[in-house]
Amino acid sequence: MSTITVSQDLIAAYAGQFAGSQKRFDQARASLAGGIAHDGRYLKPFPLYIDHADGAYKWDVDGNKLIDYAIGHGSLILGHSDPEVTAAMHEQLDRGTHYSAGHEMEIRWAEQVQQMIPSAGLVRFTASGTEANLLAMRLARAYTGRPGILKFDGHFHGWSDYLIKGEKPPFENSHQPGVPGDVLRTVAVLPPDDLGALEERLTQGDIAAIMVEPSGASWSMIPLPDDFLQNVREIATRQNVVLLFDEVITGFRWAPGGAQERFGVMPDMTTLAKILAGGMPGGAVAGKAEIMEHLLFKDEQGWNATKKVGHPGTFNGNPLAATAGSMCLKRCENPEVQQHCDSMAAKLRTGLNTVLENEGIDGCAWGESSVFHIILGHRCMNRTAADLRSPEGIDPATLKSSGKSGLGNPLALAMALEGVDLFNAGGLLSVKHEEQDIDFTIEAFTNSIARLRSGRFLA
Ligand code: PMP
Repeated sequence: MSTITVSQDLIAAYAGQFAGSQKRFDQARASLAGGIAHDGRYLKPFPLYIDHADGAYKWDVDGNKLIDYAIGHGSLILGHSDPEVTAAMHEQLDRGTHYSAGHEMEIRWAEQVQQMIPSAGLVRFTASGTEANLLAMRLARAYTGRPGILKFDGHFHGWSDYLIKGEKPPFENSHQPGVPGDVLRTVAVLPPDDLGALEERLTQGDIAAIMVEPSGASWSMIPLPDDFLQNVREIATRQNVVLLFDEVITGFRWAPGGAQERFGVMPDMTTLAKILAGGMPGGAVAGKAEIMEHLLFKDEQGWNATKKVGHPGTFNGNPLAATAGSMCLKRCENPEVQQHCDSMAAKLRTGLNTVLENEGIDGCAWGESSVFHIILGHRCMNRTAADLRSPEGIDPATLKSSGKSGLGNPLALAMALEGVDLFNAGGLLSVKHEEQDIDFTIEAFTNSIARLRSGRFLA
């Protein structure tokens, strides 16, 4: 994966401090394919194995304490083991974890989504974000009678056969081992900065839905052009195509009502997961009633056989996930949750950029709302997101592949040695990340830069 050889000193220090994780990784590989359960957890020479977590921290099997910026892949906006969420879950555990039937928690959960997400007409729960997007695509196709889906360079919508296309460079041309070409041909991938190409592609008349990460690809890693969401909204309306915001990350994080509330642009459908389920597995599709009604059984002649969209799923609306999710959403209604996370992230991005500036290193920390990304070794003039989109900016393919390849991997090792767990050369914040954690992280970054310099990764 990486074209850079990780310095032996850095590897030796990492292997020494995290010896227990190396042992677990060697053991894991005999039973778990690749020793991991998620590609995003891959790290050379081995990933960390965690023993327990609390608030903004987690402790590995060797007892090393790390500030956690992966924070449940972004799902734990309240931090690990929030007392209210945990208590509600304990109570639910004693009442059963699966009823194979409807229950009051799923009604309450759906009502909360409806109240918080401005464009949510009706809601249907799934077991993950990937499943939410699968269902949303099926609904959009049934509603419009068209087969195609249009997405944008680098935007991540889960690992389904359809939407994995275009997630990594070379975007539109990406080959996906194991995915039939016929499936890939139903998905069009366009750059987000060519509205003319978008309009033109839609005139072919085969597209059911336009899917967008409203933050820009991978939680603002590839920033969107100004007014992009508004422009796409207008185009989708004009061309009669469903506009879907994938708010799996941004939902309840960018604002209590997600990116659509923050930016004031309403999609026709929204997919949710992560924070939605308060750290438990779960997802949802929320959308206009006229689209969502394709899930309904009807007495109307022929409807159930030809119009109704099928949607089973053993863990849809699971009581334990509903309980955790409902408690989490109740807390996320208070905008102080998002304000705290946003302000800590802004302080962190500024601090990281100051380190780069002081050390005279090419690179940049950027991001929106309560997330951050770091790229090293690339010139970024004013160290802002706007720079990345400027004509001299860093091209989207480079941004997208900067995480675990390039300097991302050695940076992750160095930061772990300094007590910080990054997530894909960046991270997401929670209400439990406080000023002192940000100061600690900035110092850890300064020390990591020194480690990377002494390993000759950086001049
Ligand atoms: N959409 C976005 C924007 C995501 O970030 C993710 C997960 N990182 C998904 C969809 C897929 O969600 P899940 O991992 O729950 O399947």
